[in-house]
Amino acid sequence: MNDTGELPVIQEGPAARPPVGPEALEHRNLLDGDFWRRIPAYAGVDEATFLDHRWQMKNTITRPDKLLAALQGLVPEAFIHDVAAGFARAPMAVRVSPYLLSLIDWEQPEADPLRIQFLPMGSKFLPDHPKLGLDSLHEQADAPVPGLTHRYPDKALFLVIDTCPVYCRFCTRSYAVGLDTDQVEKVSLKPKKERWDLAFDYIASRPELEDIVVSGGDAYNLRADWITEIGNRLLDMPNIRRFRFASKGLAVMPQKVLTDDEWFKALVDVVERGRKMGKEVAFHTHFNHASEITAYSKRALDRLFAEGVTVRNQAVLLRGVNDTVESMTLLVKRLAWINAHPYYVYQHDLVQGAEDMRTTVHTAKTLAQAVRGMTAGFNTPLFVVDAPGGGGKRGVHSYDAYDRETGISVWRAPSVKPGQVFFYFDPIDQLSPEAQARWADPAEHQRMIDEALALPAR
Ligand SMILES: *Cc1c(COP(=O)(O)O)cnc(C)c1O
Ligand code: SF4
Repeated sequence: MNDTGELPVIQEGPAARPPVGPEALEHRNLLDGDFWRRIPAYAGVDEATFLDHRWQMKNTITRPDKLLAALQGLVPEAFIHDVAAGFARAPMAVRVSPYLLSLIDWEQPEADPLRIQFLPMGSKFLPDHPKLGLDSLHEQADAPVPGLTHRYPDKALFLVIDTCPVYCRFCTRSYAVGLDTDQVEKVSLKPKKERWDLAFDYIASRPELEDIVVSGGDAYNLRADWITEIGNRLLDMPNIRRFRFASKGLAVMPQKVLTDDEWFKALVDVVERGRKMGKEVAFHTHFNHASEITAYSKRALDRLFAEGVTVRNQAVLLRGVNDTVESMTLLVKRLAWINAHPYYVYQHDLVQGAEDMRTTVHTAKTLAQAVRGMTAGFNTPLFVVDAPGGGGKRGVHSYDAYDRETGISVWRAPSVKPGQVFFYFDPIDQLSPEAQARWADPAEHQRMIDEALALPAR
């Protein structure tokens, strides 16, 4: 544009594209200002207070009755009852930050992508898939020491902590993460030095391990001195060449990156020390919908970018949240706009109490096709199925066979578990009435699996 705001006149060849309208640039249209004042409970909160990570933590809602009280007057009574019924059945405890609450569209809470992720509604529950187990990824079965999963040849997953700044309804680790609920008594993965020592000893004793995912739970909940200790112990191991801190936090509380200077400095110091040693330390986060990305998220990402911290995003494909071409496309473009590389989109694991959020492999494949080619390859997420039973992440296009009628897909993972076959199961309510009837009959289950196995491998 020139000084007068007009587009410059240029000589256009026959291949010139017309300039796009503003709707094509919606990904740059980030919510800003004091949007939280729409919530009666935060109407008097100024920006400095709202940006204070301590205020966000202190005012995070962790009890259903508190949450329901905060919603009084905002939503109809019937909705409140529905959410109360949801909490009684949910495998995850409640934990919602004020920032997150104020991003929900309370005029239409039922369809809101953030409500769907964090607040269960009793009326939406679907029965779990009969093939679902509580640790569907076999993270515990593949763990040589508690909280360390060594499944792939050269990388391991280290669950350092079992708490998060928020709790997602669809958490893959509902077997361990968060407080016990009416439905689930959790495996303990508390941040204990003795447990960490066992994991560090194991990592140091396996020369093939070059890459560690430091996860949980959530790195946001690690104290600054823990970030320093974990970071330095890994950097000091000659076999370790790279690791990542994994945190949902950026998506639900950018305030921490913006105002917790001690924590931020601890993180940046580890990244910088790694860089000087020729090792990469990255930060992996978890945005699932474009409406989670505000001007405050961009400021947080800008602060990380300015310090040279690579941020990658791992989204989960969620029904009603990001399962349309429009919502997924907008998410990917907005992520790229704020310098969070869209790395993965996961097919939703078979998780207890979250059946209403799962989609089919066919949906994932359709979205993968739509997204590929839209933007830079390095900003194009790989759509993966984490094969139940410990097969690891497989590109969604790479199944051996897929029976769309029964929703069974067949996977192999030669570099992870050679010779083994893995199955993923589409949510039953998305299948034809005939296939639903077969799933209702346990005698049919093995027959359907055998049919899928008999399909020609592609
Ligand atoms: C996802 C995962 C990793 C890291 O895999 P990348 O594909 O490198 O992101 C490592 N270990 C386990 C058990 C995992 O689930
Ligand atoms: S932030 Fe991650 S680990 Fe924590 S509850 Fe959500 S999905 Fe689970």
